[in-house]
Amino acid sequence: MTTQFDQLASRILEGGAATEADALAVLRAPDAELVALVAAASRLRRAHFANTVKVNYLVNLKSGLCPENCNYCSQALGSQAPILKYSWLSKDETLDQAGAGLRGGATRVCMVSSGRGPSDRDIEKVAEMTEALKQEYPDVEVCACLGLLKEGQAERLRGAGVDAYNHNINTAASHHDAIVQTHTYADRVDTIGRAKTAGLSPCSGLIAGLGESDEQLVEALFALRDLDSDSIPINFLMPFDGTPFENTWELTPTRCVKILAMARFVCPDREVRIAGGREMHLRSLQALALQVANSLFLGDYLTSEGQEAQRDIEMIRDNGFVVLGAEEETSHETLGEPSIRQRGAGTATPANA
Ligand code: SF4
Repeated sequence: MTTQFDQLASRILEGGAATEADALAVLRAPDAELVALVAAASRLRRAHFANTVKVNYLVNLKSGLCPENCNYCSQALGSQAPILKYSWLSKDETLDQAGAGLRGGATRVCMVSSGRGPSDRDIEKVAEMTEALKQEYPDVEVCACLGLLKEGQAERLRGAGVDAYNHNINTAASHHDAIVQTHTYADRVDTIGRAKTAGLSPCSGLIAGLGESDEQLVEALFALRDLDSDSIPINFLMPFDGTPFENTWELTPTRCVKILAMARFVCPDREVRIAGGREMHLRSLQALALQVANSLFLGDYLTSEGQEAQRDIEMIRDNGFVVLGAEEETSHETLGEPSIRQRGAGTATPANA
């Protein structure tokens, strides 16, 4: 029997596009139709990314001490969350951490710093780190996530070899001011535009579970489609104690899968990345979610711990996927885990801090 989601997938594969009504129907699909929904969305995933999973690794260059007031963030002004706070890793520390992630199976390193935006000195630090990283690992993809960019900063990063820039819209324009007041939605969009203009691949996504309506989730995803985001991290709110969102639990595992499926239908050929909150919210549905998403972060997130890297790699392989770009032996020694071997390579092409 052909389901409405199958028909939608066929229409998209033939060159059509999902409408806002289609996206809402996906989001509101009854749990009894979850498997049919995933099967339909996986046709799009397979058409564009085959059985590959892109593995990303976060290096937290600077943690906490942020003057902004993003209500969901453990590093925000006024947050009482008990996180590690430090100001800038050294170049060697960054290379060590990035190297561990790359040897563990990642192909992209996301260098993240807290704060409203970088100073020109910060940009120079990241430029130097990138040059050093690329010298040691020529195939690495580097994504920077440093906050709001000013004139010329995106160009400097691109010139140093940075490949992508992450700046999440986080939520719908119509919901933005309810979750942060120290900068605007337009500020965020401006930075994504600067990155794109400089030739950096735009990476922008959202956080689900911030009190937004279904319509606002749809609004956010269509905004990401219009912004031409190449990669779309989908975060699920981790309600840190000591933040305004503590004790906010709006998500269920099936809801999270539906959100990822909606992202796949709306942006079928974009990298849909399962990001922060994966273990906490998807729980035993993480593997099912990989049938629609094609990317994840390995191991730890910014201020919380992800599941161990080796278990991530095993989950990928156990479900018949291959790690994108992992033809060679992948070592987990530096992650404190035994060495494992990746089989095969793919061909297809941050964060709730
Ligand atoms: S999300 Fe970024 S800008 Fe907002 S409070 Fe956290 S570190 Fe600061």
